[in-house]
Amino acid sequence: MRFQELLQIIGAGPAGTLLAILLAQRGCRVRLFEKREDPRRAAAERGRSINLALAARGIEALKAAGLMPAIEPLLIAMRGRMVHAPGGSVEFQAYGQAAHEQIYSISRHGLNLALVEAAANQPGIEMRFDQVLTTISPATNTMFLRHGVSDNHYECGLTPTIATDGAGSAARLSLEAGGWLDSREDLLGHGYLELTIPARDGQHALDPGGLHIWPREDFMLIALPNPDASFTATLFLPTKGREASFESLGTAPQAPRQFFQKEFPDALNLMPQFDAEFAAHSSGILGTVRASRWHIGGQLLLLGDAAHAIVPFHGQGMNCAFEDCLALTELTDTVNTWEALFAAFECARRPQAEAIAQMALENYAEMRNAVIDPDYLIERALARALERLFPGRVIPRYSMVMFHPEIPYATAQQRGTALRDCVRTLRRDGYQAKDDGTPLSIELTTRLKNHPAVLALLAVVPA
Ligand code: FAD
Repeated sequence: MRFQELLQIIGAGPAGTLLAILLAQRGCRVRLFEKREDPRRAAAERGRSINLALAARGIEALKAAGLMPAIEPLLIAMRGRMVHAPGGSVEFQAYGQAAHEQIYSISRHGLNLALVEAAANQPGIEMRFDQVLTTISPATNTMFLRHGVSDNHYECGLTPTIATDGAGSAARLSLEAGGWLDSREDLLGHGYLELTIPARDGQHALDPGGLHIWPREDFMLIALPNPDASFTATLFLPTKGREASFESLGTAPQAPRQFFQKEFPDALNLMPQFDAEFAAHSSGILGTVRASRWHIGGQLLLLGDAAHAIVPFHGQGMNCAFEDCLALTELTDTVNTWEALFAAFECARRPQAEAIAQMALENYAEMRNAVIDPDYLIERALARALERLFPGRVIPRYSMVMFHPEIPYATAQQRGTALRDCVRTLRRDGYQAKDDGTPLSIELTTRLKNHPAVLALLAVVPA
């Protein structure tokens, strides 16, 4: 192991804990500072269940750390989308065509706890809770922290530190204030609010085998299952405006219920605590973080959301942060100094972060609108027919992102564009395909294989 100095990590969220574990497993000594109290002693998010979708990229990184035996019992498989159309009908859309192509709902608190417990048991890691990073000064090679309980302020040497302190990273903001980098958070203009669909007679009130979506063009409601048979539902809605928005729902006490009665009556029927929850829970903002640089020499590196937070519509923010952790750990085999490591990391990961940031924004339109658009459904069926025709070669973009960690995000984006162009041409030429997995006729297979749009696509995707 060439990296002998004590590494400091700021933030024991998903990225900070997994990174500490992966590096400590390679012989690195790590000190982890976290502003919150130790989750092994804290109540789970004040009793609220908040969940996330875990997919192949995150699983690959957790597997590399040997953590899947601890994580697997926490997972609930979701095989596809359960689309609740405005008329009340429900349609299941499988995510992939192979049985293993599924994503998993996991409790944010449960995952964090499992990671903190694993880090606590990993030799080489020292964890310090209730420690708040306040300022970073690369010029004096110092960082300043505050003890959250005693309010004592103290300082430490900076080199080497990795900041995994999330989208609102104090490290990034401090560097920006000191003129070391530029960063911006492009706000989406839509926010989110979490609600609960409790268990009914001890069972999930909806099918727990899918991610439920109520797409309504400009906004949507989604729900992911929890192990206690409840669902966490999340409303995504414009923040401002006279039409449906968090602002307009705040104008009268009865407005949220009237809005749900009109738009999501079936979901409202499953939410007995709706009024109290809507009043008590505050809405969160959503945005994309872009920073002009991720590292200051070998002193400090930003990683995970601190470097590149994205909107949550591809369910990839944490998965991408986990992929960051694995990429950085693997790069320790190829370089000798922290500066070279941080530079190689930024060079390798920046194009990937930019690609998933863009695809996550595009997926919002897909989730809240396209999933009930007939043209989208024809194109989706054609893409899946081509996948059956050229297995392992033509793969829909969603599947590349969610189920194929061996395909970098930027490659998935590029191949996804080629596939979209191809199926749009096929649709314009009148091609149709059934999305029920039935084999294509020999005649259709031959025509498709010789269609110029398909030949152009095959030129982009390697055999
Ligand atoms: P964080 O999870 O933000 O962790 C940062 C840690 O640093 C925290 O423990 C925090 O307490 C600590 N910290 C912060 N400031 C300081 C400080 N000054 N000093 C010391 N410690 C500090 N991603 C997915 O992959 N799948 C999903 O389904 C998904 N759904 C999402 C839904 C919503 C509504 C949102 C908002 C996000 C979602 N994400 C999802 C994104 C995911 O939450 C993030 O990408 C992920 O949590 C990033 O991990 P992180 O460790 O980089 O940052």
